[in-house]
Amino acid sequence: MVLSREKKRLRSDKLVLKMEFKCVRCGQCCKNIRGPQMGQIHGLMILPEEVDLFPKGLVKPMIRYTHNARNNPGQVWMYQVDAEICPHYDEKEGCLIYDDRPALCAGFPFELSASKLVIHGACPEIMRLRKAGIKFEISASCKEPLLKIRRHYDIHLNTPEFERFDLEENRWRHVTEGLTKEHLRLLGRR
Ligand code: SF4
Ligand code: SF4
Repeated sequence: MVLSREKKRLRSDKLVLKMEFKCVRCGQCCKNIRGPQMGQIHGLMILPEEVDLFPKGLVKPMIRYTHNARNNPGQVWMYQVDAEICPHYDEKEGCLIYDDRPALCAGFPFELSASKLVIHGACPEIMRLRKAGIKFEISASCKEPLLKIRRHYDIHLNTPEFERFDLEENRWRHVTEGLTKEHLRLLGRR
C-alpha cells in the first residue's frame, strides 16, 4: 500500500524517492545457497577466516591456485558451504549467527563484481523496490563486508592461474571453464 502511493507520487510529480536498502530477513538467501555461479555449481562463498563458523563436513574449497602456478601453487584461498539450506537458518528465528554471519551474507543482496556494484535478483525485497520504481542505495552495513571480500580478491587475483571447485562435478575446473563470453568480459579475459 505504501509503495503504490509512492509509485503514484513518482508518476505525478516525477520525484525520485531514494531509500537505503533494509534487509527484511525473509530468509530467501539462506534457503538456496547452492546453485549456478559463473558457469559452475557453488555453495555459499566464505573467506578462510570464516571456515570455523560452519560444520567441518559442509565446508569445501572453492578457489585455489593451480598446481603449476608461479605463486603459492595449490593454495586454497576461498571456501564454500556445500548445502542447499544454510545450517544456521531457522524458519522462526532466521539467521542464528546474524551478528557473526559471513561477509557475503552481510553484504547481500549487493556484490562487487569487477568493482561494479551489482544486485542479486534472488532477493525479493530488492526486486520489490526496483519494481516499484524506487531508487535505493547500498546500506552502510553492507558496504564494509563487500569491501572486505574485494580486498581478499585483490590480493589473490594477481594471477590467472587458478581453479574453482565445482560441487556438482566434485572436481577442480579451470577458472574459465563454463564461462560465457559475458563472464569473460566481466573478468577482463577477452
Ligand atoms: S533475500 Fe534479501 S530481504 Fe531476504 S534475508 Fe536475504 S537479503 Fe534480506
Ligand atoms: S550464515 Fe546466516 S545469513 Fe548467511 S546464509 Fe546462513 S543463515 Fe543466512
